[in-house]
Amino acid sequence: MATIDRSRLAALTASESERYAAARPRSRALFERAARSLVGGVPMQWMSEWPGPFPPFMAEAEGARLTDIDGHRYIDFCLGDTGAMFGHSPPAVARVAAAQTAKGLTAMLPSENAVIVAELLAQRFALPFWQMALSATDANRFVLRLAREITGRPKILVFNGCYHGTVDETIVSLENGKPRSRRGNVGPAFDPTADTRVIEFNDLAALEAALADRKVACVLTEPALTNLTGVVLPDDGYHAALRAIARKTGTLLIIDETHTISTGPGGYSRAHGLEPDILVLGKPIAGGIPAAVFGMTDTIGGQVRERLYGPGAAVAGIGGTLTANALALAAMRATLTEVATEAAYDHMIRLGTRLAEGIRAVVRRHDLPWYVTQLGARVEYRFQPSPPRTGTEARAGADSAVDRFFHLWCLNRGVMVTPMHNMLLACPATSEADIDRHNEVFGEAVAALLGR
Ligand code: PMP
Repeated sequence: MATIDRSRLAALTASESERYAAARPRSRALFERAARSLVGGVPMQWMSEWPGPFPPFMAEAEGARLTDIDGHRYIDFCLGDTGAMFGHSPPAVARVAAAQTAKGLTAMLPSENAVIVAELLAQRFALPFWQMALSATDANRFVLRLAREITGRPKILVFNGCYHGTVDETIVSLENGKPRSRRGNVGPAFDPTADTRVIEFNDLAALEAALADRKVACVLTEPALTNLTGVVLPDDGYHAALRAIARKTGTLLIIDETHTISTGPGGYSRAHGLEPDILVLGKPIAGGIPAAVFGMTDTIGGQVRERLYGPGAAVAGIGGTLTANALALAAMRATLTEVATEAAYDHMIRLGTRLAEGIRAVVRRHDLPWYVTQLGARVEYRFQPSPPRTGTEARAGADSAVDRFFHLWCLNRGVMVTPMHNMLLACPATSEADIDRHNEVFGEAVAALLGR
């Protein structure tokens, strides 16, 4: 098996970082100027996580292409970390958004588009009732509240390595088998281990034990973990067992499809026959315009109606002024009808497969102990020989120094990979040539790293 020489890695990273900086004088100047008005030189902390000494500042983006202010044109496999999973500014979304912009953006009133969007979502996800939110974080916060309200139970359960947005109750992890407020949990409002149970994904015995006392309102999970630890796929039969245990203990099952919507038009849930009580979807649902939705079964819909809309109901903690605004709804309608189509998914998944196979070929050629996972249009490579079954196992396959080297190498050659992990997305505008270019650049990076 090939191994990585750390001093070679450090030297290559340093030279790639210099090359990156030298080729981007405008981004550098803007970053320096920004330091005087934006804390940290960026408007949001994640934007400081790009691998160079400063991020590339965006000029414009369209389809699978992004151009920075120094004129570098990238094949974008980050796609706004899924927000632009259907490509930057899909033409149908751009068209209706421009039209809606001239006809009223936000009025705190429902519109016909709201009804059409809910009908389209009901068909696509086989859940009859829907509500909207401004972001996936927002949607997750609302559904956790609703689950506790409906069940009258105080606790929730999530899996180690989960990410559901900046939702206080979910910022937990397991360390040496013990629940902990996650490292970096900034100014927590409360100790999240008080009412959140956290166990490993794929551990059915732990799940049985954690739900047995019937104090847990809901399990909130992605169908496969895709975030903090890298992809953790469910064991065969895991979801069926999770569904059964949740049902047996009266625990609601909330599936967050925000990333796994890459799997197919109805997400992982439709592709694999999951039966969530509540389904959450944010990020790309309005083609890049901020919006999120949550769907529910007939039973949950009835209970939510009673709690939020029943006679004398007083509601606090759910909703937001700009939620379900006219712009977001027009964009969601266009995304559902013209952008996130079966045909678009066929293309994206075919290219996802080409991407995964190309990366696997490089890994094999160089005899590396790495594995590659594919969730439809989403592909990820990790530095461990076999797929992890838990968040803890997945963390063992992370190597942020190698990530950084790959990301810099790719940026310097016109290929943009999601910072913080090695996740790539194919969008409807991505071409076979784009995929082959990534795989070529990746192959060259590996060869350089191994000194071959
Ligand atoms: N759920 C999942 C599964 C996510 O991956 C994310 C973001 N990475 C979120 C929720 C939160 O999305 P947002 O930051 O858009 O609120």
